[in-house]
Amino acid sequence: MNKMIEAPIPFLDLVTPHLELEEELVNVFRSAVKTAGFIGGHMVEGFESDFAEFSGTKYCIGVGSGTDALRFALIAAGIGQGDIVVTVPNTFIATTEAISQAGAIPDFVDVSDSTLNMDPEKLRLYLETRCVADKRGRLVHRQNGRPVTAVVPVHLYGRPAEMDPILRLAEEYNLKVIEDACQAHGAEYYSDREKTWKKAGSMGIAAAFSFYPGKNLGACGEAGAVTTNDETIAQRIRVIRDHGQAKKYYHDLEGYNGRLDAIQAGILRVKLKHLPEWNQARRQSAQIYGELLAGIEEIIAPVEPGWAKSVYHLYVVRSTRRDLLQESLQKQSIMTGLHYPLPLHLQKSYAGLGLNSGSFPVSERAASEVLSLPMWPGLNRNQQERIAKSIAEFFLGDSV
Ligand SMILES: *Cc1c(COP(=O)(O)O)cnc(C)c1O
Repeated sequence: MNKMIEAPIPFLDLVTPHLELEEELVNVFRSAVKTAGFIGGHMVEGFESDFAEFSGTKYCIGVGSGTDALRFALIAAGIGQGDIVVTVPNTFIATTEAISQAGAIPDFVDVSDSTLNMDPEKLRLYLETRCVADKRGRLVHRQNGRPVTAVVPVHLYGRPAEMDPILRLAEEYNLKVIEDACQAHGAEYYSDREKTWKKAGSMGIAAAFSFYPGKNLGACGEAGAVTTNDETIAQRIRVIRDHGQAKKYYHDLEGYNGRLDAIQAGILRVKLKHLPEWNQARRQSAQIYGELLAGIEEIIAPVEPGWAKSVYHLYVVRSTRRDLLQESLQKQSIMTGLHYPLPLHLQKSYAGLGLNSGSFPVSERAASEVLSLPMWPGLNRNQQERIAKSIAEFFLGDSV
């Protein structure tokens, strides 16, 4: 008997949510066309104020992309030419591109095996053993004497990094903390220091968000934002994103063309209203995956520590037979992704840093084991059951 051909399960479905909101989204465009208000104006300001409120910060500054957001946040925070900024190898390259483009040099500490985010212990070791105070009391790198001035924790996969110990170390060593929250709109971290849940993007001196279409909150094009509680940083970013001008044609500094489009802002404002329910649906799907995969010994499902509320931008499992598993799922029309297949320190673009294989073993092992399963707010239980069944069959060795 022929096996029934089942409908493909995409990695994510971006079409349906846009069709459901089509009328509202098109109205944004109509209203922009009527006033020709394409840059700046009330749509941008309205979204900025909505997103600041959503993120639990005083200010939000809309910019052209998540990469812009991170680059501008670093520049506005005063990260200087030749400074070292510490981040993780297990992230998207935009994190380190922004650091380099702000004039600084990225350096890495490894991630923790359980969260795949920055390991605070590794950061402590880095600061204690790789760095030293110079004559003026500045923290510098032992080998090259460069000032170490900032740390960029990444809330990867929508899961908050372990911020309390990172913030404590940053205070102790006088480092600025800029969050890469590009995958973590609405994620929460329980701060034991403040005895309260904190939103991703509200814990460092500034944070970067991306609204790339596939993110939990996505534009219909490129967009990003910085959130901050620091008025000076907010004001600087408003100037940097707009060619360095606080007043038209009076340029206090050389800036960038890095503004948020009014149409994208209007679209984001429409979609932001749905983000809490979409994030909740992702969390629900994650819980169902957890139950369905619990019996499969060869799979490590993501854990959620008590201090984290992940928004599951990605649902990332681990397997030592990852490549074969991915191939087998693909044959059954189940699409998956790799985030990420090669850690940053081993990318060709960073050969100049001279960091060999073996430098960050946890990130390197993760790169060979991680597999992102289908995840989006409309994923349903039937699909998840089929995915879990296919995974179970693969490990039983009788997959076809
Ligand atoms: C998407 C992403 C970025 C960059 O955002 P863009 O809007 O694509 O520029 C930065 N960091 C991480 C972790 C991301 O996932």
